[in-house]
This record gives sequence, C-alpha cells and structure tokens, in this order.
Amino acid sequence: MAKIQELAEVLTNQIAAGEVIERPASVVKELVENALDAGGNQIDIIVEEAGLRRIQVIDNGAGIPAAEVTTAFKRHATSKITSREDLFKVRSLGFRGEALPSIASVSDMTLESSTGAEIGEYVHYRGGKLIEQKHSAVRQGTTVSVKDLFFNTPARLKYVKSPQTELANIGDIVNRLALSHPQVAFSLIHEGNVILKTSGSGGLQRTIAGIYGVGNARKMLEISAKDLDFQLTGFVSLPELTRSSRRYLTVLINGRYIKNYQLNKAIIAGYGSKLMVGRYPIVVLAIKMDPILVDVNVHPAKQEVRLSKEDELSQLIQKTIYARLSQENLIPDANRNL
Ligand code: ADP
Ligand code: MG
Repeated sequence: MAKIQELAEVLTNQIAAGEVIERPASVVKELVENALDAGGNQIDIIVEEAGLRRIQVIDNGAGIPAAEVTTAFKRHATSKITSREDLFKVRSLGFRGEALPSIASVSDMTLESSTGAEIGEYVHYRGGKLIEQKHSAVRQGTTVSVKDLFFNTPARLKYVKSPQTELANIGDIVNRLALSHPQVAFSLIHEGNVILKTSGSGGLQRTIAGIYGVGNARKMLEISAKDLDFQLTGFVSLPELTRSSRRYLTVLINGRYIKNYQLNKAIIAGYGSKLMVGRYPIVVLAIKMDPILVDVNVHPAKQEVRLSKEDELSQLIQKTIYARLSQENLIPDANRNL
C-alpha cells in the first residue's frame, strides 16, 4: 500500500465540492445565500447556458474587508460562527465555510468585494489556484462570477442534465430564496431574458404574486398560528388551484428553505379529501422557532434539517390549514384584497 499522507488543499476542496456543489443550481444557492447573509436588499443573478458557462451574483450587502478576501476562500473559514455554542443557534444561512473554496476548486471564479468604507479587493481563482489579486472599486457589496463550472471534473460535468432541466432547477431555488426574503429585490436573468423579478416590497403575498402570478396569488389564503414552540405564517392555495408537482410547496424555517417529507405530508393532510390524487397545492409556509429546536448541520447542502418536535409541528400545520380551508367554504371570496 502507498504511504499515508494528507491530501493537498485543492484536492480536499474538490472532494468537498462533490457534496456541496452538485449542479449549477447549487452554485446559485450558495452564492445567493451568502448574499442574503450579507444583508443587502438587492440581489441580481445573471446566468448563461443554464449556469454552465457563467453564473454571476451581484449584491449590495456588507461586503468583505479587503484583507479577508483570500481567507474567505480557505476551507472552513467563516465569519458566521465562532464557537461551539453558535452551532446550536445558527441564524445565518451559511456557517460551514465550504462554499467559496468548493466552487473555486471546480471552476474559473472571480470575486470582487468592498465594504464601502475602503478600497475593494478582486481575486481570480481557477481550479482552486489564486491566479490574480488586485484592488478594485469602492462600491459596497460583492460580485461573484463563476465560469466554466466543472471544467476540471469531467465526471461531474457528465452527470449534469439538459440545459432545460438545469435552468428549471436554478429557477426553482431562486423562487424559494426570493419567497424566503420578501424584503429583498431579486432578479434572475438567463441569456438576457428576465426569468424572475421581485420588488422587495416586503409583503409575502406580493412576492408570491411576482413569482406565481397575480391571478394565482389571489387564489391563496393567508394562514397564521402560534403555539408555545412555533409561529406559523403563510399562504395556501384554494383546493381548486393545484399543480402536478411538489415544487410549489415551500417550507421555510427561520428564513431557510428546507426539504422535509413529513412537513410536506402535513400540508397535504391539511387539505383532507379536497385534493385530487397526484395534485399538489401551492403553499408558502414560514415557520419561526427557537434555533435550538432545529439542527441544520445534517448535510453540507443544509436543506435537510433535523427537528426536535417534528410531530408537534406537523400537527399544527395540518390543523391550521384544515381550519382555514373549512372557514373558506363558509365565506367564499374573502380574499379580494390583493
Ligand atoms: P459560509 O457562508 O458558510 O460562512 P462561504 O465559503 O460561503 O462560507 O463564505 C465564506 C465567508 O466569505 C463568509 O463567512 C463571509 O464572511 C464571506 N462572504 C462570502 N460571500 C459573501 C458576500 N456575498 N458578501 C459578504 N461576505 C461574503
Ligand atoms: Mg456560504
């Protein structure tokens, strides 16, 4: 057997990328989450060839101090947690410090950032190696460009699906990120075409209207509920407004879009016998809870979470939706205020 030795940093980053960066939509997700964590109110996403040729994310958030820009590309380097205790009350979307080094290791990537208070910094990485670093303009915020994704990992490139599928995945994740942050104005542009634009006006129903259309938003009912552990708000479609895919079920926990089979099941159960087989409603559910009740450190992509009180939450969701829909049968057309 060969000698045991530590792997080179570029290689460990590529291995990590295998988990975090599955496809172009994963890059979009990670970059937009970083932009959201940076706290700006405008995020523009520009995509070419379904993200394989270019993904650019521009935000007007806090920016990175010039002296820290190359640190941000080191594995497990993060400004979002500092201690073990922080891990149990994560409020930011990121905290693992893996996205930038992972993406940089499998693409040609540039990042330009400025805090607005000092001169900006520009870096260019290719295949994980820093090839250029220089000062840049003072414009508060960050612009990240990712070109030629997976150019050096042909196995991963082969696994990528058709451009239509990849673009649909990008649209899907941007929709949900926009729904999770109604106070942020989003735009998604593919090959010069505007795929999505939200106003950032702050209202969830407005954002839903921007994404799913005003007509559909009018056919959605507001729900809200609260118990000791959970605070629930959102919109559920009337049983007449359905889709053939679960893509239109969005569950947000403390502002993070998550995938959870049991919570989806609870939503459907809330409709009782009102849905036809194989049809799903359009639902956006924002749940607030003490971060101690949710473990987001289950998978590197952070979309699966472990909930301490999943059964209780499921029951609350089912009960709330059921009650709201029953009420609607009694007072038709109660939702005309859009
Ligand atoms: P994480 O998000 O888990 O901290 P990343 O690799 O995604 O790890 O980013 C590393 C660090 O770079 C972040 O902690 C943050 O300090 C900084 N950063 C990345 N993107 C941005 C951005 N768009 N605006 C401001 N800071 C950013
Ligand atoms: Mg991140």
